[in-house]
Amino acid sequence: MTRQLLRCLIVCLLLVAAGAVASGQIKPGRDANQPVDEEYTQKIRAYTTEPFFNSPLTDYLPASPNVPTPKAVLGDVAGAPGKLPYAEEVYRYMRLLEKATPRVKVYTIGTTEEGREMIAVAVASEQLLAHLDENRARLTKLADPRMINLNDDEADKLVAASFPIYYITGTIHSTETGSPTALMELAYRLAVDDSAYVKSIRESVVTLITPVVEVDGRNRMVDIYNWHLAHPGENVPPLIYWGHYVAHDNNRDAIGLSLKLTRNVLNTYTGWKAQVLHDLHESVPYLYDNTIGDGPYNAWVDPILTDEWQIIGWNNVSELTKFGMPGVFAHGDFDTWSPGYLMFIAATHNGISRLYETFGNAGADTLERTTSPGEYQRTWYRQNPPLPKTKWSQRNNNNYQQTALLTSLHYFGNNSKLFLKNFYLKSKRSILKPKNEGPAAYVFPSDDPRPGNQAELLRTLQAQGVEIHRTTAPFTVNTKSEPAAGRSPNVVVSTGPAPTPSPSPTPAATQSSGTRTFPAGSYIVRMDQPYSRTADALLDYQYWSPNDPQTEIYDDTAWTMGELANLQVFRITDKKVLDAPANRVNGDVRTAGNIIGSGSTYLVNHNADNALVTLRFRLKDATVAAAEEPFEAAGQKFNRGSFIIRKASADEIQRAAADLGIQVYAVAEAPAVQTHALKPARVAMMHTWINTQDEGWWRIAFDQFQVPYAYISTQDVAREENLKAKYDVVVFAPAARDAALIVNGLPMYGNPLPWKTTSLTPNLGKIDSTDDMRPGLGWTGLMNLQKFVQQGGVLITVDDTAGFAVNYGFTPGVSIARANRLKAVGDILRMRTVDAMSPIAYGYADSLAMYCANGPIFNISNVAVGGGGRRRNTERFTGRGGPNDPDIVQGRPPAEVPESPKAETWEAMPLTDEQRRYSGGMVIPAAERPRVILRYADMKDLFVSGLLDGGDEIAEHAAVIDVPSGRGHVVLFSTNPMWRGQTKGSYFLVFNAILNFDNLNAGRKLDDK
Ligand SMILES: [Zn+2]
Repeated sequence: MTRQLLRCLIVCLLLVAAGAVASGQIKPGRDANQPVDEEYTQKIRAYTTEPFFNSPLTDYLPASPNVPTPKAVLGDVAGAPGKLPYAEEVYRYMRLLEKATPRVKVYTIGTTEEGREMIAVAVASEQLLAHLDENRARLTKLADPRMINLNDDEADKLVAASFPIYYITGTIHSTETGSPTALMELAYRLAVDDSAYVKSIRESVVTLITPVVEVDGRNRMVDIYNWHLAHPGENVPPLIYWGHYVAHDNNRDAIGLSLKLTRNVLNTYTGWKAQVLHDLHESVPYLYDNTIGDGPYNAWVDPILTDEWQIIGWNNVSELTKFGMPGVFAHGDFDTWSPGYLMFIAATHNGISRLYETFGNAGADTLERTTSPGEYQRTWYRQNPPLPKTKWSQRNNNNYQQTALLTSLHYFGNNSKLFLKNFYLKSKRSILKPKNEGPAAYVFPSDDPRPGNQAELLRTLQAQGVEIHRTTAPFTVNTKSEPAAGRSPNVVVSTGPAPTPSPSPTPAATQSSGTRTFPAGSYIVRMDQPYSRTADALLDYQYWSPNDPQTEIYDDTAWTMGELANLQVFRITDKKVLDAPANRVNGDVRTAGNIIGSGSTYLVNHNADNALVTLRFRLKDATVAAAEEPFEAAGQKFNRGSFIIRKASADEIQRAAADLGIQVYAVAEAPAVQTHALKPARVAMMHTWINTQDEGWWRIAFDQFQVPYAYISTQDVAREENLKAKYDVVVFAPAARDAALIVNGLPMYGNPLPWKTTSLTPNLGKIDSTDDMRPGLGWTGLMNLQKFVQQGGVLITVDDTAGFAVNYGFTPGVSIARANRLKAVGDILRMRTVDAMSPIAYGYADSLAMYCANGPIFNISNVAVGGGGRRRNTERFTGRGGPNDPDIVQGRPPAEVPESPKAETWEAMPLTDEQRRYSGGMVIPAAERPRVILRYADMKDLFVSGLLDGGDEIAEHAAVIDVPSGRGHVVLFSTNPMWRGQTKGSYFLVFNAILNFDNLNAGRKLDDK
């Protein structure tokens, strides 16, 4: 209640402020002197299901003697029923516009994973478009005020001379299909309409449009829609692949930048020095302007921005309300915490992020739509809610999208000087960060054990536009911890949220206080640069209070990139760090790799740098062995798991070392250490036909580090009796579906659901194909998988697929406890290494931060059937004496109580004599018992970043388990080691399991307790 009152108050104040800056006296609506395209206008009206689902801005289309309307390509009006254009058709139209009018220019901004083009279309008056270059030069100075020495007077002159760039992106989510036609028509209107309202937009703002963000997915969605038109009344195949890799998570990539669409939009946004990035979605009736969103807000953005959200968002709602359009609102249930959304590129780069959810029908059919009570009920922020039931058309959706965008553009154009000045102020305040809120810099020490992963993370920051410096001499700064005020008791002070400097691998080392000297060659991310907020937001720690009033958490609560990369990253508030002798790094940060020494045996230290897996698969003909113990050679210390390479040419090694940035030591004689072979495993990645969203992040990881794999489905496994003949490892990444659905598949009602390339659906198939998506793994598939493991295969399972493996009996001795209070919502938790001798742990230290999303709580037992792992009640019962005294039975001599068995939470209880005697056949032979590799840390060390509540339920439990089964193994992850391109520090747990597939028992100590 308090929260809502406060919000109302803020809104009222901001509306007053908004009123003060708004000058929009121009009446929205057509220019009476400009003819309308009568036929087009008629159709707009015919396809709009109620007059109040339209506005004076879009209920007509102005005619032009020489500029073609969208009909030229669509054969009908934008939003017409039955027509969804492919990306190429949208582009063809934009290029027709470019040819027909000097007010439109089309730019290629890159390609997709599957090689399709992405474009951006600039629309403005010929006057503005003729001066884009000079304007960009001015905007560049406003974006980087260091170029004008932070001089406000100079900035005012630049602002006065400049015009802003408003960047709109459509259909990132492929099932949300309306934006491309809305944006085609919007481009036409902006170029052609002579009404005072639209004219004022094109003369004051450059509207930049990427009509299709997810091009690969768009074309598949159009295929699906066309299939639906050709098969009336049939069930439609679901859009299993949106983009090449992931589905809706393409809108969670602004942190890791793994997808081309993210990089292309980012580069366009920063390259144009745009002020706004406005992303269009369609999942809420009828228009939810979630620009304002809900709390908690991201803690790293400038408050100037959060005020802009309010000002623009409420103006938008207010204008559409005046048009009488129902169901337009702001706030709602989107919290604005994570910087992973595409639009957030603007928020973290001194611009304004915006997002609309409109109402789409996932296609171009006109449908009777029923909204839920939560959607149609009036609330304080939605005084004119959507209707409970109405006929809804794609044209309605296009009317809402265009009307809202036009009012936004109009408002933005009218107030362009205010927003340009704000753009300058936000950029300037980013540069002043060390002097104001801090920190001064982040430091990546040159003696980090994982230079390859370090360079990788620094390159991601560079791709964000962040400048990196490298020191030329050692420097000393104060790294003293600041008071840990306000931290929750479950936060360990040594590793908790900033401002404590936080080297990841060894929490104990973070307790350093006083000063610290960093060696020469260390990297510094200075906070006195325009994009300091991006770096700060990505490298800092997150803290989401378990008592936060926001209980509908929208997405991950943590993303601390240094932790997830298993790197040492120091947050430094001491401004002296800015005086460290250092040079700006030109070009990408890379590690140097070469061969040191001579000899025909090559040694590579295993430090869990991801490039090592690339090296192994690249040297596919070489003989590579893993050392089972640490050793010293060539004057260097080598970790357990280090590579010993023979039968490889020096040239080949040299090239690989240089390309991959790996340090190789050549020696005459191999060290005397126990080894086993690292053979290039034959890997299969198994997917379901129900969901490929999360496994897509695994494919990205494998592709990036060039781990070859066969991409197979559960249906292939159901057909393949002898999997072991083809594969050594089957990876079953998270399927986001329960175990029964994995086995059963979709119900077999109705018609088959094909996913294949045909002339009607030229973009389906390709990644994988099937005649019918419905059948699942089935019982034969289960048997084939079990046989695969029995015959020596390795099955890697994660989170829900680990649950699948446990529930279907792949892993005797492992059970999963029900979580009651645990809330680990996309957070980062600390793991401890239990068995450093296991090949899965090679290259890792004692401690590792991992991504966790309420993963399964594993218990371990030495008995095949029946739980185990629960701490037995050793508290004494009621009787004589004190709490630690034995009870005494009266009338007989005291009996000696045998010591009760004890085990750690992540261990199995030792077997009792009774168990040995009476559950004979159930006792798992020592060699086949689950081997715990990593466990969740103790409660006091568990929390690293994000939201953790009820952590005691999972603290100390096993997190990564290797379960021997027959001649093979099942590897279980409770955490997710491959997530959103952010968790590169835990990738190697998976790579280790693959590289050591036929020697996972190495280093195993058997205990028959
Ligand atoms: Zn969406």
